[in-house]
Amino acid sequence: MKNFSNYRDYSKKENLKFDSKAVHGALGCEPLTGAVSFPIYQSATFRHVELGVTTDFLYSRLSNPTRQELERTLAILEEGEYGFCFSSGQAANMAMFTWLNSGDHVLLMDDIYGGTFRIVTTIFAKYGIEYDFIDLSDIEAVKAAIKPNTKMIFIETPSNPMMKVADIAKLSEIAHENGAIAVVDNTFLTPYFQKPLTLGADVVVHSATKYLGGHNDIIAGAVVVRDEKLAEHFSVQLKSHGNGLAPMDSWLMLRGIKTLHLRMQRHNENAMKVAQWLRNHPKVTKVYYVGFSDHKDYEVTCRQTTGFGGMISFAVDSMDTVKKLLRDVDMVLFAESLGGTETLITYPTTQTHEDTPKDVKERLGITDTFLRLSVGIEDADDIINDLKQAME
Ligand SMILES: *Cc1c(COP(=O)(O)O)cnc(C)c1O
Repeated sequence: MKNFSNYRDYSKKENLKFDSKAVHGALGCEPLTGAVSFPIYQSATFRHVELGVTTDFLYSRLSNPTRQELERTLAILEEGEYGFCFSSGQAANMAMFTWLNSGDHVLLMDDIYGGTFRIVTTIFAKYGIEYDFIDLSDIEAVKAAIKPNTKMIFIETPSNPMMKVADIAKLSEIAHENGAIAVVDNTFLTPYFQKPLTLGADVVVHSATKYLGGHNDIIAGAVVVRDEKLAEHFSVQLKSHGNGLAPMDSWLMLRGIKTLHLRMQRHNENAMKVAQWLRNHPKVTKVYYVGFSDHKDYEVTCRQTTGFGGMISFAVDSMDTVKKLLRDVDMVLFAESLGGTETLITYPTTQTHEDTPKDVKERLGITDTFLRLSVGIEDADDIINDLKQAME
């Protein structure tokens, strides 16, 4: 039997730029056969060489070569040390919150993704975890909300769906002064535009279903860390929950990542055009988009990111406009999710934020006339023309 020990050796490609790293991954070529497309190792278990000698792969719940290539690729792109890929973004977040012990307190963004809200309020609350949802873009509010038992600040930036921007470096500093960790959900911008670990954050989580996968064809989650103790935590969670990403889905994500930089550039360009067009439409009452120079957090955005991403939220004048728009869009698809090649329009109040209490939604601005757009990589004029015909 050939020895796979060279799987342990991979270059971090430190001399390469982001785009080349995205294309070439960790090992890139599979070392045994030279396969340029890293293979899908559809094997549950791995043969041992002899007593005490293995290839380092034992059983696919623990680790799998295809998933490992993906995890290392993500660690490289996020400039971390250790990556973990889960069966969904929710699974990654579940593993994150198990870091907390009973009696610990966590601060989260007030308009956070509905699923994250549900994890904290319905699952971890039962185990004695305390929480507060506050506006993390307001540093004074954060300082006032920190408690002696605060052990985590969970940051989503830009936030979903109000597009508020939190200062990652500042919040990481506040967390560390308090002996807490700073976690960033980097789903919206990806490491192409924002690298939280380089700004001081301890953990990056992703719904890789979105931009990392990028093609609306897989459900996946990811975590990247630098610290060994955090890495050990995620390794134990992954093998205990048994929710590591399957080899086929790992391969699809590796394939998606090869074009991450190109897709993000186009999402960014298209969103800028669509946001500007929406802003001038008479039926649109407000546009939430981090790329506007008059966005209240624009200065923070420019300091910590290199782009604005493809997400836009907006409010329209009436329920009639909402209904007409969601019924009459043609190329643009009325569907939940974001970050794929296709432009999707979402109705947050009954879709992504269904589980957020109504009074909270109203306070945040997630009203009945509020919509979210994940701008795809089609021709921007086609996206605009489709929205235009559907609104008029
Ligand atoms: C979609 C999403 C999640 C949940 O991820 P799944 O892959 O759907 O489980 C978490 N956070 C954000 C910001 C998301 O958009």
